[in-house]
Amino acid sequence: MGLTEIADRVAQAAERAGRDPASVRLIAVSKVQPEARVAAVLEEGHRLFGENRVQEAEGKWAAFRDRFGPVEVHLIGPLQTNKARTAMALFDAIHTLNRSKLAATLARIADETGACPDLFVQVNTGDESQKAGVSVSDAPALIGEARRLSLPLVGLMCIPPVDQPPGPHFALLARMAAEHGLEGLSMGMSGDFEEAIAHGATHVRVGSAIFGERVTG
Ligand SMILES: *Cc1c(COP(=O)(O)O)cnc(C)c1O
Repeated sequence: MGLTEIADRVAQAAERAGRDPASVRLIAVSKVQPEARVAAVLEEGHRLFGENRVQEAEGKWAAFRDRFGPVEVHLIGPLQTNKARTAMALFDAIHTLNRSKLAATLARIADETGACPDLFVQVNTGDESQKAGVSVSDAPALIGEARRLSLPLVGLMCIPPVDQPPGPHFALLARMAAEHGLEGLSMGMSGDFEEAIAHGATHVRVGSAIFGERVTG
């Protein structure tokens, strides 16, 4: 696999769905990948990446941005309020707004600094107890709150349960976004990004299919 093949598959999936390929953004998820693999994808010209930990991303992307110039980096993992300020300075978008306390913290810092990354509300479409998103039933209140706080809310994000077909989760998220007038849909990973695009994904988050299996521990 690799970047070129995945970018081609993204474009083809968009065309099959009757969509403009430019309406789907490919986020290369570089978490836990060795520096050389990430540098290789930067060398190929890709400039949109995803990370799931603030601390891991901090040093890494300061260095890559020095070397390669502006790179858009999105946070796709859970955010603790005590890391919100760092995350807001580092990331161009945060896909994991999942609770009102975090919304309030982001709004307070945005008021102070005059800047805020684009935000996605993460919805726990599978209502799994261990997952970080807001429940489907509580999502409307959180969306309303983010809007009252004038936060730059651009869409919804989900991670379907691993043991279920993802299609119904993608469809549910798309329906919720439409109901709330939100255009962004962050959904689809290495195994299911084409299906997510068929359901309207605007941001697919693809890691191992681009970089190879993650090397851990
Ligand atoms: C790691 C991760 C991905 C990418 O997963 P792959 O299966 O390697 O494509 C996508 N989204 C989130 C939230 C992740 O944590």
